[in-house]
Amino acid sequence: MTRIRVVWRLFPAFILIAVTCLLAGTWYTASSWRKFYLQETAVDLENRARLVEIYLQDLRPAPDETQINAICRKLGQLTSTRVTAILTSGKVVGDSEEDPQRMDNHADRPEFKEAVQGQVGISTRFSFTLGHDMMYVALPWRQQERTLGVVRASLPMKAIDGALRSLYQKIAWGGLGVALVITVLSFLIARRITGPLDDLKRGALRFARGDLDRKLPVPDTDELAGLAEALNYMAEQLQSQIETLSRQGQEQEAILSSMTEGVLALDAAGRLLTINRAGAAMLRVDADTAQNLEVQEVIKDPGLKWFINRTLSNPDPIEGEMEIKDDSRRIFQAHGTSLRDAHGISLGTLIVLRDITQLRQLENTRRDFVANVSHELKTPITSIKGFVETLLAGALNEPKNAENFLQIIAKQTDRLNEIIDDLLTLSRIEQDAERRQIFLQGQKIKGVLQSAIQVCETKAAAKNITIELNCPDDLRGQINPPLLEQALVNLVDNAVKFSEPGSAIQVEAERAGTEVLVRVRDRGPGIPPEHLPRIFERFYRVDAGRSRKIGGSGLGLAIVKHIALAHGGRVTVASAPGKETVFSLFLKAD
Ligand code: ADP
Repeated sequence: MTRIRVVWRLFPAFILIAVTCLLAGTWYTASSWRKFYLQETAVDLENRARLVEIYLQDLRPAPDETQINAICRKLGQLTSTRVTAILTSGKVVGDSEEDPQRMDNHADRPEFKEAVQGQVGISTRFSFTLGHDMMYVALPWRQQERTLGVVRASLPMKAIDGALRSLYQKIAWGGLGVALVITVLSFLIARRITGPLDDLKRGALRFARGDLDRKLPVPDTDELAGLAEALNYMAEQLQSQIETLSRQGQEQEAILSSMTEGVLALDAAGRLLTINRAGAAMLRVDADTAQNLEVQEVIKDPGLKWFINRTLSNPDPIEGEMEIKDDSRRIFQAHGTSLRDAHGISLGTLIVLRDITQLRQLENTRRDFVANVSHELKTPITSIKGFVETLLAGALNEPKNAENFLQIIAKQTDRLNEIIDDLLTLSRIEQDAERRQIFLQGQKIKGVLQSAIQVCETKAAAKNITIELNCPDDLRGQINPPLLEQALVNLVDNAVKFSEPGSAIQVEAERAGTEVLVRVRDRGPGIPPEHLPRIFERFYRVDAGRSRKIGGSGLGLAIVKHIALAHGGRVTVASAPGKETVFSLFLKAD
């Protein structure tokens, strides 16, 4: 459908109304004028006829026809009117323009008939005498109360029509002028009405483009002002709704990005609509480039692909666990739910991924730990049980063997005691650390190192090992003295255990930036590199047989590690077979 501008719809309507009014006005004026003009002409003719009658009355009774005709001629010339005198018989006795002798009887003329009756007769009709339209006004011609005939004055209609035509022309020119003025005025009015509409249209388009800040100017007409105000109100509402939506979007975005779970939203066709930061990190994809791509293109792991396919084709929530092996081995727990709108129509799928690698590792560690503890406890208990049974079976009666067996039982009991003590120590440190009940205080650490060395002194002396201490007197750290002493005892005790008799062990302490570094150095057998990463695990031993023979629960370094952590520090080891072994304990400086 072709559309036209409002101005072009209003303007012709204005013109049509104006022209119709003008035509009607012109027609009414012209016809009123014509009527008036003819009335005036008739009155004028009546007056002229009355004048002629007065002249004729002055003639003596039974005047001569020639005399009458002469008066008619004279008065006709003077008044530029055709003047006719007709007897009651209808015989024409005088005429200003024709010879009465040659004129036929006028008794049948309508104006004559009315005048003979004593009235003013008016008629407009074709004159057979003159051969054109004439207006006739006839009066009774009286002399001394006697009607002699009729006096008639007439004018050709041509003259009246000519006068009227010139009047019409003036009216027409005037009308044309008025029409032109109306045209210009109506165009200006139409423009004035539609101009603000154009402004409103431009403003509404601006709103549609999203520029909601610039308000529309309010026009001075009531309806358009109402429309502009309604549009401005709409823009305000839109702006506040957009702000609410974008705030909600930002809140959702913030919630999604702060989640530790990976969240993926897919549409029904399997395209990735949203992936949060955690999800992108878990799947090792770039969140921005992955957006709107087929999820199958983005995700390479076959297990996860299969899970997503199942979720897309299944309306019910699905849970699964999968292992992704790329550069590292990670375990994910996945939860898939179909996304539905308010009417229950499927929009796609939501997948939530949780990295449970650590949880599984922890579970494994705990399982291993229980198995290890059982195993560690079982060995001495089996030994004790065996010797007790042997004693009961009769060995008790062999005092030499019995004493030997009882000594072994005592040794194994000590071992059990040692394991249980270490387990209790470890769990106490863990618990206290969890409950934040390990209190640190800033103090000099040399004294703590000295008492730790003192504890190990007897064992070292038995192997002729010297322990050298190198620590500045004023070196201060944030420490829990009993725990730090225990950690150092464990490290020095290990060094003594694994060093050759007659060798030396160094205990050194120094400040390293914001930390205090305590090192225990020995020249024992060293530790092969493959064991280094696991050396701080509970019950981990490089050479289980040898370690057991030397003694030790296998928990010493685990205790050191937990004490370091409780101090907000760490412990590291540097060693290699045949090289020196250095355990470094980092603590916070005071
Ligand atoms: P244990 O109580 O059996 O000594 P630890 O946890 O203290 O247990 O030590 C774990 C293992 O680390 C030991 O069995 C030993 O194999 C190794 N190890 C610890 N300290 C040293 C050291 N100074 N030199 C060589 N090996 C060591």
